[in-house]
Amino acid sequence: MHSAVASSALLAACPQARALPGFLPDGLVRQDAHSLVRRTAYEAVTPGQRRAAQRAALDRAAALGIGCVHECGGPDLGGEQDFLDLLALEHGVQRVGYWGELGGTGRARELGAAGPGGDLFLDGSLGSHTAGLTGAYADAPTHGEVYHPAGAVAEHLVEATRAGLQAGFHAIGDRALGLLLHEALPAAAAVVGEPALRAARHRVEHAEVLDAGLVQALARYGLVASVQPAFDARWGGRDGMYATRLGADRAAGLNPYAALASAGVALALGSDSPVTPLDPWGTLRAAVRHRTPGSGLSARAAFAAHTRGGWRAARVDVAGDLVPGAPATFAVWEVPGELVVQTPDDRVAGWSTDPRAGVAGLPDLAAPDPRCRRTVVSGATVFDSGNGL
Ligand SMILES: [Zn+2]
Repeated sequence: MHSAVASSALLAACPQARALPGFLPDGLVRQDAHSLVRRTAYEAVTPGQRRAAQRAALDRAAALGIGCVHECGGPDLGGEQDFLDLLALEHGVQRVGYWGELGGTGRARELGAAGPGGDLFLDGSLGSHTAGLTGAYADAPTHGEVYHPAGAVAEHLVEATRAGLQAGFHAIGDRALGLLLHEALPAAAAVVGEPALRAARHRVEHAEVLDAGLVQALARYGLVASVQPAFDARWGGRDGMYATRLGADRAAGLNPYAALASAGVALALGSDSPVTPLDPWGTLRAAVRHRTPGSGLSARAAFAAHTRGGWRAARVDVAGDLVPGAPATFAVWEVPGELVVQTPDDRVAGWSTDPRAGVAGLPDLAAPDPRCRRTVVSGATVFDSGNGL
């Protein structure tokens, strides 16, 4: 999602790309050239194709027990029409939209977004050497990219906070995160005050390269860390892509979920789909079985972060628990011989992540994944496996 190969035909449709930063003569595109090429490609998708794809994605989510998705749109991602169409699509799976445009608070409100955030890129990715790092990459003579100055990021935070909306940023590298946490947030706090910033519950997507100071700052400003355990499962470990990019020792410090949780940072687990597939049980497994020993979450914390945590990340504080008065939003799972009701505070079914319940924490994460039997959103069934319950 941060670099691509563009065909001759696509480049012919946007010849200006050749003059933009990030264009390489072999057709590999990054940075601005990549944004333009991607925008051009998306514009070739017809409204009918787009609607079909959106419906297929939401159907798939429902069938996997996902009752709500967070859509990270933006001018350089799917564009406005894609964003509006997805939010307007008649479908039982709830959608929370974030609009990733710097200075786009007004636009986010007009588009019906929860805030000007999501994949508002402060940097790129480790895979494409574009995540902004304080130290150089181990396998390329670069420190990556940071796309916006701290002043503009601070102004964005102030505008969103004053509008009562959530700001959010895509930030992976410690230099991008440092700009956000050590420069922009203190500058914004000097204008609107720290309590207002905390109350706004701003977000950061990914937050992978973190030291203790950055973790503390996330907690201090009440930021939600929206993290993707599948990244660690796919690219972590001592010989994975992260180790190639950073060296095994630096890579071992990535995605420190245990440190985030113990510092009191609110966590929400996601897939960053289509970067990794929608896969709730795979996400739980990856969060618990972190590739770096000691960096993972307990089953209880992972389960809470992947259920209640997602709602809290969108500032929906009444959902995520099966308690009287809460919306009837839940999934029913089948494991061999048993039914599991998905809730972090499980007083209903045979499994519980609550140690006080005195029963097993979660279905064996090494066994085949539980199968979703039914997904219910606010009392309406949005998926039923059709085999009866
Ligand atoms: Zn992102």
